[in-house]
Amino acid sequence: MRYTRLMKRRTPLLIFVILIGLAGIFSYSRSHSPAASTDKVSHSATAPQSKPAPGFDKKQFSTSLPTSPWVIVNKQHPLQPKTYIPPDLTPVGNGQYMRAEAAAALSHMFDDAKAAGLTLTAGSGYRSYDTQVSVYASEVRNFGQTVADSESARPGFSEHQTGWAIDISGGGCNIGDCFGTTPQGKWVAANAYKYGFIQRYTTANSASTGYRAESWHFRYVGPALAQEFHDTQASSLETFFGVSGGPNY
Ligand SMILES: [Zn+2]
Repeated sequence: MRYTRLMKRRTPLLIFVILIGLAGIFSYSRSHSPAASTDKVSHSATAPQSKPAPGFDKKQFSTSLPTSPWVIVNKQHPLQPKTYIPPDLTPVGNGQYMRAEAAAALSHMFDDAKAAGLTLTAGSGYRSYDTQVSVYASEVRNFGQTVADSESARPGFSEHQTGWAIDISGGGCNIGDCFGTTPQGKWVAANAYKYGFIQRYTTANSASTGYRAESWHFRYVGPALAQEFHDTQASSLETFFGVSGGPNY
């Protein structure tokens, strides 16, 4: 009796507890229903598509450290410090030097050119700060400062000081416009990218580089970037990386 009476009194509470329980089960089953799961799956399936497509990693190397194969040296960006001397300078023939990695690539390129019947030589590779002082002074003396600035870099602003640049001679043309018209010059223009080199100064990119076209001047940037330049027909290091340049100091 006592028990029955107790049950009667507690029945509303019991129904309340059961209702709360049912509500809980209902909401759990909604959030874990197949429809909800499908939503989650489709979200995670579409997520990768919203990320940028995998492409060339432009942050792989620095464009400002002088030791980097991607360093950009121009009239807006001197070497830091201006008297920088690269490590591992290696002979590339004709009394010239480049960084070891670039020297090995140049040697490979010269060997393949030779196998194709074309002899190439190193015209001018690494130039020290002090050498550039006299090169620039001589240009100013002979042609005036305006012409000197369009053809020669002021000390501390020359790519040759990085050890990554080379002026190539061949076909009877020693560092001059004639090089681009020789079979040797045409072969280098067409094949240099395979060895990690780009033609640094072209007619098309002189506004961004600040220099007139130089068919003889090649810059080692490594095979991956040289291939990317070739594939995308990139104009200059400045436009590719969004770094300032141009003809003014
Ligand atoms: Zn040069």
